[in-house]
Amino acid sequence: VHAGVTEDGPRVALYGCQRRTPLAHSNQALTDALETLAEEAGFGGSEGRSLAFTRAASVLKSLPGPLTSLGELSPLPCIGEHSRKVIQEVLEDGVSVEVERVKLSERYRTMKLFTKIFGVGVKTAIRWYQEGLRTLADLQERHTELTREQQAGLQHYTDLNTPVERSEADTIERLVQEAVWQFLPDASVMLTGGFRRGKQQGHDVDFLITHPQEDKEVGLLSKVIRWLDSQGFILYQHSQRNTYQLPGDPELLSSGGGSSMDRFERCFSILRLARLTQDKDLPPGSGAQGICTQGGCGAARGWKAVRVDLVVAPFSQFPFALLGWTGSRHFERELRRFAKHKRKMILNSHALYDMAQQMFLPAASEEEIFQHLGLEYVPPTERNA
Ligand code: ATP
Ligand code: MN
Ligand code: MN
Repeated sequence: VHAGVTEDGPRVALYGCQRRTPLAHSNQALTDALETLAEEAGFGGSEGRSLAFTRAASVLKSLPGPLTSLGELSPLPCIGEHSRKVIQEVLEDGVSVEVERVKLSERYRTMKLFTKIFGVGVKTAIRWYQEGLRTLADLQERHTELTREQQAGLQHYTDLNTPVERSEADTIERLVQEAVWQFLPDASVMLTGGFRRGKQQGHDVDFLITHPQEDKEVGLLSKVIRWLDSQGFILYQHSQRNTYQLPGDPELLSSGGGSSMDRFERCFSILRLARLTQDKDLPPGSGAQGICTQGGCGAARGWKAVRVDLVVAPFSQFPFALLGWTGSRHFERELRRFAKHKRKMILNSHALYDMAQQMFLPAASEEEIFQHLGLEYVPPTERNA
């Protein structure tokens, strides 16, 4: 089912979850162009068009080598007329006139600027753009109403738009472990998101926390947050209690109205991390000393604000949560679409439900979820769809 080379050229499966998509691929210029158009379509409210460009880009990411001629597109799925035209331009001229025009346009640039604020989605950014706002200074000067999240996002704008390095993610992992293990020594703390897929940089650091004894994890997160706060690590946090009842709860099927939102106990936070350049003289493996505490290095601005997501899952839902929080977003979307249309199953970060048998299908590992779906297992580093 995976991408392979046949006499007709590369053979590529229809759904992103049926393909292996490594982080590094051979068609970056093409996928960058298509993803710019996907983004621009999203900014214009055209979700369908946006998805079409995203799918085309994702197919190219799974190819074993660079695309060199238009003819190689014919056996590939998901490449529409518009995508083909863009690919042709980039192949022939190195750039697409349309993409270059988009990148220079006022709306695209302003929407990029605004959506890079933590807490600002496309809808809010469009509204601000339509009100005539163009810069971050405009937001402050015109007394735009901002949520607490957006205020924090604006305050830490530069830091939060500086990529988080893998080494910084490792430091934060040790800190989160230190915090969690004080209260629950047998809990497991897993790095998920882009870093689990092998990325060396990310826009945030994602963790999934669980305990092998179900219910032990209840109430853990608020203790962890309180401790982190008492140590001066928390610049911003928004916690949410879990909003489901029991395993088998029908609510597990309708989490967030079919979107990727789930109902786990979670915390979206901004932590204060000491700049790693200061870590050189410190002994290795000595825990979380890389993180700055209040009154310490903050005055000299020797710290950096970093977005951290903490999610707590009960053990029985852990494999589903792990699969759901490892991403990529497009891989997740494709998994759910495949489950629904090819298998008549509902998949989310809590459970897998078989509509024909009218039952939940339990799983003890990600591998078992792929088995239930009749999919070849795709390891995290190949989920960069
Ligand atoms: P980056 O390096 O940009 O952080 P990433 O793949 O880690 O890349 P995230 O936005 O952190 O991107 O998302 C990681 C995974 O968590 C995604 O697969 C996404 O589906 C899931 N996710 C993110 N936010 C939510 C949410 N609010 N509810 C449920 N799942 C979410
Ligand atoms: Mn992430
Ligand atoms: Mn995240």
